[in-house]
Amino acid sequence: MSRADKVPVLDLAPEIAEVRPELDAAWARVLASGHFILGPEVDAFEREMAAYLGVKHAVGVASGTDAIVLALRGLGVGPGDEVVTTPFTFFATAESISAVGATPVFADIDPETFNLDAELAARAVTPRTKAILPVHLFGHTSDLDPILELARERNVAVLEDVAQALGGQWRRRKLGTLGKAGAFSFFPSKNLGGFGDGGLVATGDDEVAGTVRMLRAHGSRRKYFNEAIGYNSRLDALHAALLRAKLPHLDAWNQGRWRAAARYRELLAGIPGLVLPVERSGAVHVYHQYTVRVTGGRRDALKEALAAQGIETMVYYPKSMHELPVYARPGLSFPHSEVASREVLSLPMWPRIEPEVQARVASAVRAAMG
Ligand SMILES: *Cc1c(COP(=O)(O)O)cnc(C)c1O
Repeated sequence: MSRADKVPVLDLAPEIAEVRPELDAAWARVLASGHFILGPEVDAFEREMAAYLGVKHAVGVASGTDAIVLALRGLGVGPGDEVVTTPFTFFATAESISAVGATPVFADIDPETFNLDAELAARAVTPRTKAILPVHLFGHTSDLDPILELARERNVAVLEDVAQALGGQWRRRKLGTLGKAGAFSFFPSKNLGGFGDGGLVATGDDEVAGTVRMLRAHGSRRKYFNEAIGYNSRLDALHAALLRAKLPHLDAWNQGRWRAAARYRELLAGIPGLVLPVERSGAVHVYHQYTVRVTGGRRDALKEALAAQGIETMVYYPKSMHELPVYARPGLSFPHSEVASREVLSLPMWPRIEPEVQARVASAVRAAMG
């Protein structure tokens, strides 16, 4: 590749090319079926996802955000309840808690994994706490054991936000199946990216699954016998069919991301001021993002230096939830999260990223930091 070529932060073209015949067949199958919302394709996708995750129920919904909202309601979370979560996440996590009428109560992150710190989460639990909502940010989990233990002790549910970590594991179990429920997203850039919005709730609990199925269809288990104020949040047949074509490739793609991360680890070793991502023992990291820390106030300068060479990078996320007007409160401060939002930089990452592209990114980083 020539110097003039741009390096995007994410390139979806290789994986689409890899499954193009299956995608074309899926599209043709749905067009011929005349069945466009829920139906056999969604049923089959739900069965395949449940088998992949090793969980009893998988319920397809219209987005990852809806998956969190419907799962929270399935867990009985509503007005007056508190949900303990991380301030260092995508807005949808906190927004969904607010959307069901509950209050997000933030607890700071473990600076190594960027995820909810179990000890700080324990201090945030009150008698009003109904659930703990850890987010497996960038494809990695924090140490989930103390969070699961805390939830057991305090008799609250754990809902995992697995939007960025489909295929990731903790102690040989798939993320999203360790708590009472897991919420997944098929937003196009996620590890199993769809071709529009889509999401899924995984749970081992019959009642939670039944409630989520009821809520996604206007609060009805039986058409026109609506029993609750629900949502129009069904997964489309077309999205399910296209996702079914991609699902068998997910593990190979996640392995590709993992290999790319191992290459970055070698290529970026020993650069002063650069902190590389960790992998906790017991966790399988699926590198939704390869996110480094740039210390010493040099993150934005590095981002600009890379951009000048045609290398795109992203800042996930420039503001913690409590720094946004809707969640800001006087005196509310989460120092680890605030530092992270000033230091993080996500480098180009996708399953089939070429080693030469990574070498070019790494040498540009090394030159800019030198
Ligand atoms: C993407 C994402 C969501 C929301 O998923 P959508 O499908 O875009 O609604 C929620 N939480 C996290 C951490 C995400 O990255």
